[in-house]
Amino acid sequence: MKSELERMLLQLHREEEDPYGFACARNPEPTKNMDFLESLDPQILVGAAVAVVVIAAAAYLFSSKKPKEILDLTILLLVLLVSLDPENFKDFKLVKRTQLSHNVAKFKFELPTPTAVLGLPIGQHISCRGKDGQGEEIIKPYTPTTLDSDVGYFELVIKMYPQGRMSHHFREMRVGDHLAVKGPKGRFKYQPGQVRAFGMLAGGSGITPMFQVARAILENPKDKTKVHLIYANVTYEDILVKEELDGLASNYPDRFKIYYVLNQPPEVWDGGVGFVSKEMIQEHLPAPAHDIQASEFKSLQTRILRCGPPPMNKAMAAHLEALGYAPEMQFQF
Ligand SMILES: Cc1cc2nc3c(=O)[nH]c(=O)nc-3n(C[C@H](O)[C@H](O)[C@H](O)COP(=O)(O)OP(=O)(O)OC[C@H]3O[C@@H](n4cnc5c(N)ncnc54)[C@H](O)[C@@H]3O)c2cc1C
Repeated sequence: MKSELERMLLQLHREEEDPYGFACARNPEPTKNMDFLESLDPQILVGAAVAVVVIAAAAYLFSSKKPKEILDLTILLLVLLVSLDPENFKDFKLVKRTQLSHNVAKFKFELPTPTAVLGLPIGQHISCRGKDGQGEEIIKPYTPTTLDSDVGYFELVIKMYPQGRMSHHFREMRVGDHLAVKGPKGRFKYQPGQVRAFGMLAGGSGITPMFQVARAILENPKDKTKVHLIYANVTYEDILVKEELDGLASNYPDRFKIYYVLNQPPEVWDGGVGFVSKEMIQEHLPAPAHDIQASEFKSLQTRILRCGPPPMNKAMAAHLEALGYAPEMQFQF
């Protein structure tokens, strides 16, 4: 007769879709399981490590289970600790709402258990579902400003536009309400050491994917990647997560540089003025460079990430092309 653990693992194995690469987790072969563990995002491992070690150690000490069973149990626990479901919307409870400016707020959502992690790979985003002012369903992408090292919760910083459909949903949300979330989504994949330096061009709320990637890189002591960010806004008050960005710049002065650009700067201002220009990109982002030793995108020494309103993205793509950044050196969130 199969143990309860084996039955659950086989059940997981039967499920068809596998966007996390959890096929290995669902296969009870020990070698595949090791592959799965190695393939996990380090942030997920950080978040889950304490709970898993305690439970696995307890299982080893107080039961007669064999090492393979303990490995399977560990993997099952990791799967259960990941909160997101790529196929189905799941509800997350809003536990705190902090107004940051007249139209920006930080929303803190609780995960199902205090040891759970969201399970969002670096550079990917979630789909959030809500209702607009007419009661019609709307789904939009958002990038949490938290990482999977932030255990038990995740946070969104949302800019709410007066006419925005999903903005309406967030404006109406109160503590205790639930947000329907599905994910992970997105084509961006990050591995430490993938490139020597990232250049980032962000506008307005387009900062959130950049902030997430920059934080993950800088907070990993083994990752030596450099990050150069140009962040454009209309006014000083529009700059999102400024305190956090300035904190990264002062904590990692050799690896993180930020240049703010404003359309309408205050009287005293030492950043850029107007729209982001070719000259600003030349001065503040890493120059296009290939490593001729390697191939494909591993060969890139620099990569430019873009996220902003459509007119800005278009203008930035034209600037980058004129400056000699090949299409494979660019990525738009
Ligand atoms: C990968 C990704 C991650 C994102 N993460 C975040 C995030 O963490 N936080 C966040 O606030 N947003 C984020 N966004 C933007 C978000 O998905 C929505 O586009 C935004 O919330 C507006 O949606 P809406 O339905 O309220 O506005 P819509 O109904 O789509 O737009 C209505 C009006 O709002 C105004 N508007 C909408 N978007 C913009 C804009 N970008 N710039 C200027 N005016 C605009 C325009 O006047 C527009 O006509 C992200 C987008 C992407 C692609």
